[in-house]
Amino acid sequence: MPQVATKAQNEWFFHKLKADPEQYADYLRRARERRRAYHARVGDDVINARARAKAEERGHWPKVKRRTPEWKASQKKLKKIQKAKKAEANRRLIRNLKRHPCRDCRRLWPYYVMQFDHREGEVKCFEISNKGLKCAPARLLAEIAKCDLACGNCHAIRTHKRRLALVAREMWEQGVGV
Ligand SMILES: [Zn+2]
Repeated sequence: MPQVATKAQNEWFFHKLKADPEQYADYLRRARERRRAYHARVGDDVINARARAKAEERGHWPKVKRRTPEWKASQKKLKKIQKAKKAEANRRLIRNLKRHPCRDCRRLWPYYVMQFDHREGEVKCFEISNKGLKCAPARLLAEIAKCDLACGNCHAIRTHKRRLALVAREMWEQGVGV
């Protein structure tokens, strides 16, 4: 019958060991060496198989065989459904948030006319209508918070004005017309 330390004995051993950092570091180094030597002697495959057998014995390892073609196919299908559901939820969220009047003309338009326009000075991380459908709701809301809600017309006017301002600034910087 091999002598096995009790839990209390183990705890006491590590308590004493950790009291001296140098001694503890030395212990960890030797343990690492022992583990490496064991792996080199026995081989990773055998060690993995042993660990697996042990886990199976304890009931930790799932009995169903994973990574089979059927399992992979079902996972793929599941992911697809989950993605579609997520996109649908985000789409609904975006449409609900679009039920507000346009920031510029103050008129109420249907959701398919409304657009989120990133305010000037805000860092645009992604397009709301593109990546916004795939990302987490919190990220989507954070991105929408950087935007003004404008109808298609007003958005086009905003963009045009911005472009004009940019051209004017570039001309000014180059010293044209001074
Ligand atoms: Zn408008």
